[in-house]
Amino acid sequence: MDAATYFKLPGHPVPEILPEWAPFFDGCRDGSLRIETCRDCGRTQHFPRGQCMRCGGAVDHVAAAGQGTIESVTTVSYTKDAFFRTVAPYHYALIRLPERVKMTGLILGDAPQIDERVVARFGELSEGSGVWGVVWELDRG
Ligand SMILES: [Zn+2]
Repeated sequence: MDAATYFKLPGHPVPEILPEWAPFFDGCRDGSLRIETCRDCGRTQHFPRGQCMRCGGAVDHVAAAGQGTIESVTTVSYTKDAFFRTVAPYHYALIRLPERVKMTGLILGDAPQIDERVVARFGELSEGSGVWGVVWELDRG
């Protein structure tokens, strides 16, 4: 399944957006993966916390390249969640970004290999929800 097909599936869970997460999800709507970057010390961090975890400084939300590398991965064959049961089996990975952060994400398509490259794909989580999210596809082009 590719990202375009995935985002057309009905019934995707829509998260409650906490204030510190709003810039991240707004970025997804704009096709941009936003990473918190400290104005004072330059540290990048994910997940969003609203302030730097090293020095307490204010953060900007900087667009990442939208690419990453698989650090670890598992395949989910069964889940209690009704939506994700329609998608299973799927792959869930820890992804290392060049911006020096890691994030977890759903990998569409074939099972990825460790150190394989992936690219971010964005879409509305459930039609009409107004909330956009990110999934990842293998970068085998
Ligand atoms: Zn800092």
